[in-house]
Amino acid sequence: MRAAVLHQAGSPLTIEEVEKPVPGAGEVLIQVKACGVCHTDLHLAAGEWRLHKLPLVLGHEAVGVVEAVGPGVANFKAGDRAGIPWIYSACGICEYCTSDREPLCPAVMVTGFMVDGGYAEYVKAPASYAVAMPPEFGFVEAAPLYCAALTSYRALKVSGARVGETVAVWGVGGLGHYAVQIAKAMGARVVAVDIDSAKLELARELGADVVVEAQREDADEKLKSLGGAHAVVNLASSSEAIAQGFRALRRGGTLVLVGLPAGTFTLPILGSVAKGIRILTSAVGTRQDLREVLALAAAGKIRTIAETARLDQINDVFDRMRTGSIKGRVVLEM
Ligand code: NAD
Ligand code: ZN
Ligand code: ZN
Repeated sequence: MRAAVLHQAGSPLTIEEVEKPVPGAGEVLIQVKACGVCHTDLHLAAGEWRLHKLPLVLGHEAVGVVEAVGPGVANFKAGDRAGIPWIYSACGICEYCTSDREPLCPAVMVTGFMVDGGYAEYVKAPASYAVAMPPEFGFVEAAPLYCAALTSYRALKVSGARVGETVAVWGVGGLGHYAVQIAKAMGARVVAVDIDSAKLELARELGADVVVEAQREDADEKLKSLGGAHAVVNLASSSEAIAQGFRALRRGGTLVLVGLPAGTFTLPILGSVAKGIRILTSAVGTRQDLREVLALAAAGKIRTIAETARLDQINDVFDRMRTGSIKGRVVLEM
Protein backbone atom coordinates (compact mmCIF):
# COMPACT_ATOMS: atom_id res chain seq x y z
CA MET A 1 0.00 0.00 0.00
CA ARG A 2 1.05 3.62 -0.41
CA ALA A 3 1.95 5.69 2.63
CA ALA A 4 3.65 8.98 3.48
CA VAL A 5 6.60 8.00 5.64
CA LEU A 6 8.77 10.03 8.01
CA HIS A 7 12.29 8.60 8.06
CA GLN A 8 14.06 11.32 9.95
CA ALA A 9 12.90 14.25 12.06
CA GLY A 10 13.14 17.45 10.06
CA SER A 11 13.10 15.68 6.68
CA PRO A 12 10.20 15.76 4.23
CA LEU A 13 7.87 12.76 4.20
CA THR A 14 8.39 10.34 1.33
CA ILE A 15 5.62 8.56 -0.54
CA GLU A 16 6.40 4.87 -0.77
CA GLU A 17 5.08 1.34 -0.88
CA VAL A 18 4.92 -0.23 2.56
CA GLU A 19 3.43 -3.46 3.82
CA LYS A 20 -0.33 -3.45 4.25
CA PRO A 21 -1.18 -4.12 7.92
CA VAL A 22 -2.91 -7.35 8.89
CA PRO A 23 -5.52 -7.12 11.67
CA GLY A 24 -4.73 -9.34 14.65
CA ALA A 25 -7.11 -10.49 17.37
CA GLY A 26 -9.41 -7.66 18.45
CA GLU A 27 -8.28 -5.36 15.63
CA VAL A 28 -9.93 -3.73 12.63
CA LEU A 29 -8.31 -2.98 9.31
CA ILE A 30 -9.61 0.28 7.85
CA GLN A 31 -9.30 1.35 4.24
CA VAL A 32 -8.51 5.01 4.81
CA LYS A 33 -10.70 7.38 2.81
CA ALA A 34 -9.58 10.61 4.45
CA CYS A 35 -7.11 11.75 7.07
CA GLY A 36 -6.86 15.25 8.50
CA VAL A 37 -3.52 17.01 8.91
CA CYS A 38 -3.12 18.20 12.49
CA HIS A 39 -0.53 20.75 13.58
CA THR A 40 0.72 18.08 15.99
CA ASP A 41 1.87 16.08 12.94
CA LEU A 42 3.98 19.07 11.97
CA HIS A 43 5.50 19.24 15.48
CA LEU A 44 6.31 15.53 15.19
CA ALA A 45 7.74 15.72 11.67
CA ALA A 46 9.90 18.67 12.71
CA GLY A 47 11.34 16.60 15.57
CA GLU A 48 10.06 18.92 18.32
CA TRP A 49 9.12 15.87 20.39
CA ARG A 50 11.14 12.71 21.02
CA LEU A 51 9.99 10.20 18.44
CA HIS A 52 9.13 6.67 19.57
CA LYS A 53 9.41 5.00 16.22
CA LEU A 54 11.05 5.60 12.85
CA PRO A 55 10.16 5.13 10.08
CA LEU A 56 6.76 6.45 11.06
CA VAL A 57 3.45 6.95 9.29
CA LEU A 58 1.84 10.06 10.82
CA GLY A 59 -1.88 10.86 10.96
CA HIS A 60 -4.45 10.56 13.76
CA GLU A 61 -7.63 11.85 12.11
CA ALA A 62 -8.22 8.82 9.88
CA VAL A 63 -11.63 7.70 8.74
CA GLY A 64 -12.66 5.06 6.24
CA VAL A 65 -14.34 1.75 5.68
CA VAL A 66 -13.63 -1.37 7.70
CA GLU A 67 -12.14 -3.88 5.28
CA ALA A 68 -11.57 -6.77 7.67
CA VAL A 69 -11.74 -7.59 11.36
CA GLY A 70 -9.54 -9.91 13.38
CA PRO A 71 -10.82 -12.69 15.66
CA GLY A 72 -12.98 -11.58 18.57
CA VAL A 73 -14.20 -8.25 17.14
CA ALA A 74 -17.89 -7.75 17.88
CA ASN A 75 -18.41 -3.99 17.45
CA PHE A 76 -17.39 -3.68 13.77
CA LYS A 77 -17.84 -5.71 10.62
CA ALA A 78 -16.52 -5.31 7.08
CA GLY A 79 -18.21 -2.39 5.33
CA ASP A 80 -18.79 -0.29 8.47
CA ARG A 81 -17.52 3.30 8.54
CA ALA A 82 -15.07 4.01 11.33
CA GLY A 83 -12.38 6.41 12.43
CA ILE A 84 -9.24 6.31 14.51
CA PRO A 85 -8.25 9.10 16.88
CA TRP A 86 -4.99 10.05 18.65
CA ILE A 87 -5.61 7.50 21.42
CA TYR A 88 -4.78 4.23 19.67
CA SER A 89 -5.23 2.21 22.85
CA ALA A 90 -5.04 2.45 26.63
CA CYS A 91 -5.01 -0.16 29.39
CA GLY A 92 -8.71 0.17 30.15
CA ILE A 93 -8.35 -0.60 33.86
CA CYS A 94 -6.16 2.05 35.53
CA GLU A 95 -7.50 4.97 37.59
CA TYR A 96 -7.44 7.26 34.52
CA CYS A 97 -9.08 4.82 32.14
CA THR A 98 -11.87 4.23 34.62
CA SER A 99 -12.43 7.91 35.46
CA ASP A 100 -13.09 9.72 32.17
CA ARG A 101 -9.39 10.46 31.61
CA GLU A 102 -8.14 7.73 29.30
CA PRO A 103 -5.66 10.08 27.51
CA LEU A 104 -3.71 10.13 30.81
CA CYS A 105 -3.32 6.33 30.96
CA PRO A 106 0.38 5.54 31.57
CA ALA A 107 0.09 2.68 29.07
CA VAL A 108 -1.48 4.84 26.35
CA MET A 109 -0.44 4.16 22.76
CA VAL A 110 -0.78 6.99 20.27
CA THR A 111 -1.81 6.74 16.62
CA GLY A 112 0.63 8.20 14.12
CA PHE A 113 3.26 8.64 16.84
CA MET A 114 3.87 5.38 18.71
CA VAL A 115 2.25 3.24 16.04
CA ASP A 116 1.68 3.93 12.34
CA GLY A 117 -1.26 6.18 11.55
CA GLY A 118 -3.52 7.31 8.75
CA TYR A 119 -1.32 8.95 6.10
CA ALA A 120 -1.70 5.68 4.23
CA GLU A 121 -4.17 3.61 2.24
CA TYR A 122 -4.82 1.33 5.20
CA VAL A 123 -4.48 1.53 8.96
CA LYS A 124 -5.22 -0.99 11.66
CA ALA A 125 -6.32 -0.34 15.23
CA PRO A 126 -7.87 -2.05 18.25
CA ALA A 127 -11.60 -2.30 17.54
CA SER A 128 -12.42 -1.08 21.04
CA TYR A 129 -10.66 2.27 20.42
CA ALA A 130 -11.93 2.84 16.87
CA VAL A 131 -15.10 4.93 16.89
CA ALA A 132 -18.01 4.50 14.48
CA MET A 133 -18.52 7.32 12.00
CA PRO A 134 -22.13 8.54 11.83
CA PRO A 135 -23.81 8.32 8.41
CA GLU A 136 -24.70 12.04 8.29
CA PHE A 137 -21.47 13.24 6.75
CA GLY A 138 -18.82 12.41 4.18
CA PHE A 139 -15.30 11.23 4.97
CA VAL A 140 -13.62 14.59 4.43
CA GLU A 141 -15.97 16.38 6.81
CA ALA A 142 -15.68 13.57 9.34
CA ALA A 143 -11.92 13.16 9.56
CA PRO A 144 -11.01 16.35 11.52
CA LEU A 145 -13.75 15.64 14.03
CA TYR A 146 -11.54 12.83 15.36
CA CYS A 147 -8.88 15.18 16.75
CA ALA A 148 -9.53 18.86 16.01
CA ALA A 149 -13.19 18.92 17.05
CA LEU A 150 -12.71 16.37 19.83
CA THR A 151 -9.87 18.35 21.41
CA SER A 152 -11.76 21.64 21.20
CA TYR A 153 -14.87 20.05 22.67
CA ARG A 154 -13.02 18.57 25.62
CA ALA A 155 -11.09 21.80 26.24
CA LEU A 156 -14.33 23.76 26.41
CA LYS A 157 -15.79 21.21 28.83
CA VAL A 158 -12.64 21.54 30.94
CA SER A 159 -12.97 25.34 30.90
CA GLY A 160 -16.23 25.07 32.84
CA ALA A 161 -17.63 27.97 30.79
CA ARG A 162 -21.35 28.57 31.28
CA VAL A 163 -24.14 30.05 29.20
CA GLY A 164 -23.67 33.76 28.63
CA GLU A 165 -20.05 33.85 29.72
CA THR A 166 -17.27 35.29 27.59
CA VAL A 167 -15.06 32.63 26.04
CA ALA A 168 -12.00 33.64 24.04
CA VAL A 169 -10.73 31.18 21.46
CA TRP A 170 -7.07 31.98 20.84
CA GLY A 171 -6.07 30.64 17.39
CA VAL A 172 -8.76 29.91 14.80
CA GLY A 173 -7.02 27.11 12.92
CA GLY A 174 -7.99 23.47 12.56
CA LEU A 175 -8.94 23.20 16.22
CA GLY A 176 -10.10 26.77 16.71
CA HIS A 177 -12.64 26.82 13.89
CA TYR A 178 -14.50 24.10 15.78
CA ALA A 179 -13.95 25.74 19.17
CA VAL A 180 -15.70 28.90 17.98
CA GLN A 181 -18.74 26.86 16.94
CA ILE A 182 -18.79 24.67 20.05
CA ALA A 183 -18.48 27.66 22.39
CA LYS A 184 -21.32 29.30 20.48
CA ALA A 185 -23.43 26.14 20.74
CA MET A 186 -22.76 26.20 24.51
CA GLY A 187 -24.31 29.65 24.68
CA ALA A 188 -21.15 31.63 25.30
CA ARG A 189 -20.28 35.08 24.02
CA VAL A 190 -17.44 34.05 21.71
CA VAL A 191 -14.37 36.15 21.10
CA ALA A 192 -12.06 34.79 18.38
CA VAL A 193 -8.42 35.87 18.40
CA ASP A 194 -5.93 35.18 15.62
CA ILE A 195 -3.03 36.90 13.88
CA ASP A 196 -4.52 36.38 10.43
CA SER A 197 -7.52 38.36 9.17
CA ALA A 198 -8.77 35.53 6.93
CA LYS A 199 -9.15 33.31 10.02
CA LEU A 200 -11.16 36.02 11.71
CA GLU A 201 -13.47 36.35 8.72
CA LEU A 202 -14.07 32.62 9.01
CA ALA A 203 -14.64 32.95 12.76
CA ARG A 204 -17.34 35.55 12.07
CA GLU A 205 -19.03 33.23 9.56
CA LEU A 206 -18.95 30.48 12.18
CA GLY A 207 -20.65 32.61 14.80
CA ALA A 208 -17.97 34.53 16.72
CA ASP A 209 -19.49 37.61 18.38
CA VAL A 210 -16.24 39.57 18.50
CA VAL A 211 -13.03 39.06 16.55
CA VAL A 212 -9.61 40.40 17.45
CA GLU A 213 -6.62 40.57 15.15
CA ALA A 214 -3.77 40.15 17.61
CA GLN A 215 -1.17 41.61 15.21
CA ARG A 216 -3.00 44.93 14.90
CA GLU A 217 -4.98 45.29 18.09
CA ASP A 218 -3.99 44.87 21.70
CA ALA A 219 -5.89 41.64 22.29
CA ASP A 220 -5.78 41.62 26.08
CA GLU A 221 -6.87 45.29 26.25
CA LYS A 222 -9.75 44.56 23.88
CA LEU A 223 -10.83 41.65 26.06
CA LYS A 224 -10.52 43.79 29.18
CA SER A 225 -12.80 46.38 27.58
CA LEU A 226 -15.37 43.57 27.28
CA GLY A 227 -15.04 42.82 30.98
CA GLY A 228 -12.36 40.16 30.57
CA ALA A 229 -12.78 36.55 29.52
CA HIS A 230 -14.31 33.98 31.84
CA ALA A 231 -12.33 31.41 29.89
CA VAL A 232 -9.49 31.55 27.40
CA VAL A 233 -8.76 28.42 25.42
CA ASN A 234 -5.35 28.61 23.82
CA LEU A 235 -5.31 26.70 20.55
CA ALA A 236 -2.41 28.63 19.02
CA SER A 237 1.01 27.11 18.86
CA SER A 238 2.58 30.17 20.44
CA SER A 239 3.81 30.88 23.95
CA GLU A 240 3.21 34.60 23.36
CA ALA A 241 -0.46 33.73 22.78
CA ILE A 242 -0.56 32.00 26.18
CA ALA A 243 0.81 35.09 27.94
CA GLN A 244 -1.65 37.32 26.09
CA GLY A 245 -4.58 35.04 26.82
CA PHE A 246 -3.64 35.05 30.48
CA ARG A 247 -3.77 38.85 30.59
CA ALA A 248 -7.20 38.82 28.95
CA LEU A 249 -8.83 36.89 31.80
CA ARG A 250 -11.19 38.43 34.29
CA ARG A 251 -10.88 37.68 38.03
CA GLY A 252 -11.57 34.02 38.68
CA GLY A 253 -11.08 33.27 34.99
CA THR A 254 -9.79 30.03 33.53
CA LEU A 255 -6.93 29.54 31.09
CA VAL A 256 -6.97 26.21 29.26
CA LEU A 257 -3.73 25.24 27.55
CA VAL A 258 -4.11 23.09 24.45
CA GLY A 259 -1.68 24.43 21.81
CA LEU A 260 1.77 22.90 22.06
CA PRO A 261 4.54 25.35 21.17
CA ALA A 262 7.99 24.02 22.00
CA GLY A 263 9.57 25.30 25.21
CA THR A 264 8.26 26.74 28.43
CA PHE A 265 6.11 29.66 29.53
CA THR A 266 6.17 32.05 32.44
CA LEU A 267 3.17 33.54 34.22
CA PRO A 268 3.13 35.94 37.17
CA ILE A 269 2.46 34.13 40.46
CA LEU A 270 0.96 37.03 42.43
CA GLY A 271 -1.07 38.10 39.39
CA SER A 272 -2.48 34.56 39.15
CA VAL A 273 -3.14 33.97 42.84
CA ALA A 274 -4.55 37.41 43.65
CA LYS A 275 -6.96 37.18 40.72
CA GLY A 276 -7.91 33.57 41.49
CA ILE A 277 -6.92 32.42 38.02
CA ARG A 278 -7.29 28.74 37.20
CA ILE A 279 -4.64 27.40 34.85
CA LEU A 280 -5.67 24.08 33.32
CA THR A 281 -4.58 21.85 30.48
CA SER A 282 -6.52 19.63 28.16
CA ALA A 283 -5.32 16.75 25.99
CA VAL A 284 -7.51 15.39 23.19
CA GLY A 285 -10.51 13.64 24.80
CA THR A 286 -12.04 10.27 25.56
CA ARG A 287 -13.92 7.98 23.19
CA GLN A 288 -17.11 9.18 24.88
CA ASP A 289 -16.17 12.83 24.22
CA LEU A 290 -15.61 11.80 20.61
CA ARG A 291 -19.04 10.18 20.35
CA GLU A 292 -20.58 13.34 21.80
CA VAL A 293 -18.84 15.69 19.40
CA LEU A 294 -19.68 13.42 16.45
CA ALA A 295 -23.31 13.62 17.54
CA LEU A 296 -23.06 17.41 17.75
CA ALA A 297 -21.78 17.48 14.17
CA ALA A 298 -24.40 14.99 12.99
CA ALA A 299 -27.05 17.29 14.48
CA GLY A 300 -25.69 20.16 12.38
CA LYS A 301 -24.48 22.22 15.36
CA ILE A 302 -20.90 22.32 14.10
CA ARG A 303 -19.50 21.94 10.62
CA THR A 304 -16.11 21.22 9.17
CA ILE A 305 -14.33 23.77 7.01
CA ALA A 306 -11.83 21.76 5.02
CA GLU A 307 -9.96 21.66 1.77
CA THR A 308 -8.63 18.44 0.34
CA ALA A 309 -5.16 17.45 -0.80
CA ARG A 310 -3.54 14.30 -2.14
CA LEU A 311 -1.21 12.18 -0.05
CA ASP A 312 1.73 13.22 -2.23
CA GLN A 313 1.04 16.89 -1.44
CA ILE A 314 1.66 16.45 2.28
CA ASN A 315 4.96 18.35 2.39
CA ASP A 316 3.31 21.36 0.71
CA VAL A 317 0.48 21.14 3.24
CA PHE A 318 3.06 21.25 6.05
CA ASP A 319 4.67 24.32 4.44
CA ARG A 320 1.31 26.08 4.34
CA MET A 321 0.59 25.11 7.92
CA ARG A 322 3.92 26.58 9.00
CA THR A 323 2.94 29.93 7.50
CA GLY A 324 -0.58 29.77 8.95
CA SER A 325 -2.29 30.01 5.57
CA ILE A 326 -4.77 27.13 5.88
CA LYS A 327 -8.45 27.89 6.37
CA GLY A 328 -9.92 25.26 8.71
CA ARG A 329 -8.31 21.89 8.08
CA VAL A 330 -6.53 20.25 5.17
CA VAL A 331 -7.73 16.69 4.74
CA LEU A 332 -5.77 14.16 2.71
CA GLU A 333 -8.11 12.23 0.47
CA MET A 334 -6.93 8.74 -0.39
P1 NAD B 1 -3.36 25.27 13.03
O1 NAD B 1 -2.02 25.56 12.46
O2 NAD B 1 -4.44 24.74 12.14
O3 NAD B 1 -3.96 26.57 13.76
C1 NAD B 1 -3.22 27.42 14.57
C2 NAD B 1 -3.87 28.80 14.51
O4 NAD B 1 -3.25 29.63 15.47
C3 NAD B 1 -3.73 29.48 13.16
O5 NAD B 1 -4.97 29.99 12.72
C4 NAD B 1 -2.74 30.61 13.44
O6 NAD B 1 -2.95 31.74 12.60
C5 NAD B 1 -3.06 30.90 14.89
N1 NAD B 1 -2.01 31.60 15.63
C6 NAD B 1 -0.67 31.43 15.54
N2 NAD B 1 -0.04 32.27 16.40
C7 NAD B 1 -1.00 32.98 17.04
C8 NAD B 1 -0.99 33.99 18.05
N3 NAD B 1 0.16 34.46 18.55
N4 NAD B 1 -2.17 34.47 18.47
C9 NAD B 1 -3.35 34.02 17.97
N5 NAD B 1 -3.41 33.05 17.02
C10 NAD B 1 -2.26 32.56 16.56
O7 NAD B 1 -3.10 24.24 14.24
P2 NAD B 1 -4.11 23.19 14.92
O8 NAD B 1 -4.05 21.89 14.18
O9 NAD B 1 -5.39 23.84 15.18
O10 NAD B 1 -3.32 22.92 16.31
C11 NAD B 1 -3.10 23.99 17.21
C12 NAD B 1 -2.17 23.55 18.33
O11 NAD B 1 -2.86 22.61 19.16
C13 NAD B 1 -0.89 22.85 17.86
O12 NAD B 1 0.18 23.23 18.71
C14 NAD B 1 -1.21 21.39 18.06
O13 NAD B 1 -0.08 20.57 18.23
C15 NAD B 1 -2.02 21.46 19.33
N6 NAD B 1 -2.90 20.31 19.59
C16 NAD B 1 -3.04 19.95 20.89
C17 NAD B 1 -3.87 18.91 21.22
C18 NAD B 1 -4.07 18.51 22.64
O14 NAD B 1 -4.62 17.45 22.90
N7 NAD B 1 -3.65 19.31 23.62
C19 NAD B 1 -4.58 18.21 20.21
C20 NAD B 1 -4.42 18.64 18.89
C21 NAD B 1 -3.59 19.70 18.60
ZN1 ZN C 1 -4.36 16.23 16.41
ZN1 ZN D 1 -5.22 2.99 31.68
